Amino acid sequence: MPFEVYNTLTRKLEPFRTLEPGIVRMYNCGPTVYGRAHIGNFRAYLFADTLRRWLEISGYEVRQVMNITDVGHLLDDADAGEDKIEAQARKEQLDPWAISRRHTEQFFRDLEDLGCLPARVYPKASEHIPEMLEMIEGLVAKGYAYRAGEDVYYEVAKFPRYGRLSGNSVAELDAGARIDVREEKRHPADFALWKSDPHHLMKWKSRFGEHGFPGWHIECSAMARRHLGDRLDVHTGGEDNIFPHHECEIAQSEAFTGQPFATYWMHTKFLQVDGGKMSKRLGNCYSLDDVRAKGFTVRALRFCLIRGHYRQPLNFTWDILREATSVLENLDDLVVRLRRAQSGAAGAASADAGIEEVGEAMAEFRAALDDDLNVPRALAALMALRALALEERLGASAAAQALQFVVHVAQRALGCIQVEEGSLAAEVEAKIRERNAARKARDFARSDALRDDLVRLGITLEDTKAGVLWKHKDSGAGGGPIA
Ligand SMILES: [Zn+2]
Repeated sequence: MPFEVYNTLTRKLEPFRTLEPGIVRMYNCGPTVYGRAHIGNFRAYLFADTLRRWLEISGYEVRQVMNITDVGHLLDDADAGEDKIEAQARKEQLDPWAISRRHTEQFFRDLEDLGCLPARVYPKASEHIPEMLEMIEGLVAKGYAYRAGEDVYYEVAKFPRYGRLSGNSVAELDAGARIDVREEKRHPADFALWKSDPHHLMKWKSRFGEHGFPGWHIECSAMARRHLGDRLDVHTGGEDNIFPHHECEIAQSEAFTGQPFATYWMHTKFLQVDGGKMSKRLGNCYSLDDVRAKGFTVRALRFCLIRGHYRQPLNFTWDILREATSVLENLDDLVVRLRRAQSGAAGAASADAGIEEVGEAMAEFRAALDDDLNVPRALAALMALRALALEERLGASAAAQALQFVVHVAQRALGCIQVEEGSLAAEVEAKIRERNAARKARDFARSDALRDDLVRLGITLEDTKAGVLWKHKDSGAGGGPIA
């Protein structure tokens, strides 16, 4: 089965084919850097990372571009309201550039902590003003955009496909328009490409006037074109980006280049918290630090945010993160058990025992991710492997094969399984041996006390027929058996 993805544009599953063999041009709508990104934002970026990982495992070279919006994103996502970054700057009595710089740096730290592979480029909107103006001037010249004073608007009526991505029609948009629409617009759905405001702090001179700044939508069209060319294979974002943002990007890019913009549009469903919308008012726009403060690892958060299907809503609660943490521990544990079975210590009958089941689980994992990145189905395949390992039904060569797969395919795809072999400090290993000796001598009080000591040192133990398995509680890395 080839890789298939759900395309928001056509509303169906489609086989994945790229414009150029072996190369994927992928653009991800990135953050507007006026505040710390929260776990809901990260769901979309983690999806982009998982997609990129699976494409690379499938043999593609992925040219991934994720933008940083540091100007022009207004509070209402369209043409009204203050610039989000300038509003924050006013609140903190800081320079808007200081705000965007601080949050951009924080964003990169968070992405790294979450184990996201770095994109090829993270273009900043403020550094692509000439590219935006080139497109805006081109759109005016081609008759798709018009000037109104020093502002420039895109005329949606000139682009018949406007509404195809989101399922809106220009007529409906007309009917639904608010009464307070700006009078200089020819149609209420027309959107700003360039806006003029002498009070805007981040502004540029252009042929349209002295004090202008770009609209949010043109930024992505221009940055995608600059770094990936006129056509993309994949464009991703959160479901809230579909309209108006992505609809407008299509209208701008396709009218300007005369070519289809992106082949596949992929969107991540919202993250809910405690069954509802995240909001500043409820104080549940959690950051990575909030997650750490509750005693969870960012690695577990990554797992929690990618383990559901990206097109299904995901509800986040601390209980669900706790549960995800223990499922992830089981995946870490799978690696420890496979390593042990590979060494022949697990006691399965023959080296080849279980080889067929391992083959099936590996094929199922791949088929699941080829099926529109069905992570829950892929995880079920890993759990089938774990069941085989737990029941000690894997011979040494079957276990070796499974271990290679988990390390080089499953972990590479998911980015959060602990596959490093743990090491023990000499004093810890000595304590484990001392405890073994105490158990042998049936001195259970001594043995229990030593086990408690080890727990305090962050080491958990499991007694098996072949010997003791141990694990670092925090990192999940483990090993054994220690006889
Ligand atoms: Zn965008």
